[in-house]
Amino acid sequence: MSLLRRENEPVFHGYFVQYACPFCRGPKDMGGYGQSLIWIATECIARGDALTSCSSCEQHFRIPGRIFANGVLHELATIAKRDEEQGADTLWSYVQSKYVATNNQRHLLQDNWYQILLDANRAGPVDVAAMPWKPGQPCPLCTDARFPIAFTYACPYCKHRVSVPQQVIDMTRGVLVACPNCMRQLSVPPSVWCPKCSRALLDYYSVLRRIAGANGVDLHQLIPEEP
Ligand SMILES: [Zn+2]
Ligand SMILES: [Zn+2]
Ligand SMILES: [Zn+2]
Repeated sequence: MSLLRRENEPVFHGYFVQYACPFCRGPKDMGGYGQSLIWIATECIARGDALTSCSSCEQHFRIPGRIFANGVLHELATIAKRDEEQGADTLWSYVQSKYVATNNQRHLLQDNWYQILLDANRAGPVDVAAMPWKPGQPCPLCTDARFPIAFTYACPYCKHRVSVPQQVIDMTRGVLVACPNCMRQLSVPPSVWCPKCSRALLDYYSVLRRIAGANGVDLHQLIPEEP
């Protein structure tokens, strides 16, 4: 199954914009979803662009605000401001009723939005580890404050879903987690922590990839099946 669609056409899966990584051309994540349109818009409204990473090659790239059609970011910013507390939820329902329900998603983005994304990353991946960062500010490696404080993987031996809260993961030794079903152990290495700020976990697939590497199992064995 090919997850790559026509590159110059916005393809939405729910609220996710699907696109290929500008560097390895891999799909944005294992499920074939891109980032949520709302997340991209919110980041672009706040900072001018959104910084994200590829779950295949783990390189960081920018999604510039210029991918949005003329006036769209301003429109979304105005809507979000009406209800600051529920900003994202308000945007979701607004985008749903105005663009998704009417099948007008493509009017959200420029026709050549994918080319704009490629051009913005022509100089190569963003080296987030070298980006200036002040403690107290969002870390560029883990900018998404909504990163989970617990994650779930499938036991590679019996497929039981195992949930690991981040507070049990020692920052220098990691943790051994026994599957509550088959009792076999899996090592969660300390490298699942963000190496820059050491206060947040890496993104989900980076976490799974590091667990897979530490235990000599295949990444796909750790991905839980849909509930
Ligand atoms: Zn990539
Ligand atoms: Zn098990
Ligand atoms: Zn960090």
